[in-house]
Amino acid sequence: SGGSNGGGAYLVGIDTTYPPFEFQVGGEYTGIDIEIINAIAESQDFEIELRPMDFVGIIPALEAGELDLAIAGMSITDERKEILDFSEPYFDAGLTLVVNADNTEVTSLDDLDGKVVAVKNGTTGSKFARENQEQYGYRIADFEDSPSMFLEVANGHADVLLEDYPVIAYAITRRDLELKTVGERLTDDQYGIAVLKGKNSDLLEKINAGLKELRDSGKYDEILKKYIDDSG
Ligand code: GLN
Repeated sequence: SGGSNGGGAYLVGIDTTYPPFEFQVGGEYTGIDIEIINAIAESQDFEIELRPMDFVGIIPALEAGELDLAIAGMSITDERKEILDFSEPYFDAGLTLVVNADNTEVTSLDDLDGKVVAVKNGTTGSKFARENQEQYGYRIADFEDSPSMFLEVANGHADVLLEDYPVIAYAITRRDLELKTVGERLTDDQYGIAVLKGKNSDLLEKINAGLKELRDSGKYDEILKKYIDDSG
């Protein structure tokens, strides 16, 4: 086996900074996605090399053959399934509204008329914001990465942001950002590991076999417990 770099390793696209899924500690990447893909590689006996990039660049890089697979807190969507094949789902997520901890004005989408909504390029949050903009009457501010989007709302420069609830929960509880979630969860989705559609079925089989082994051995739960306080 081997990756598109011509060597022995598969090139793995990850988001630059998406705790608790991928983030750096002391210059090394760690997190749920990193531990899962490392464990799969070990169980299925292949090598990987991580390729961190802005989320918006990941699918184009898969299409260009610059990556073999991606694990990036990436939601399985019908639109993406037209160009990608996904593994079995490995995590439940979905979008929530997030405001500054001091904000008492915004409690749902209905309060967003004239407000500024921050989103990250290429994400389900960005797509949701665009699809619902006309109905709710907000402006959209685009960001390349989640930390700068979070800061914008923490600093009061944008009113609201859209993010996956496990990611924002981690940011609030572990990183002390002055943010809070409001309202109902807006969407339900699941994360999957992606390869280019129709091009990498052998690799996808190994990924699914590795995921199954991780779940059966209890290692999957162990990994999650390290990063998620409340499994619900
Ligand atoms: N789950 C979201 C998506 O798939 C966000 C992913 C991310 O920001 N890394 O678009």
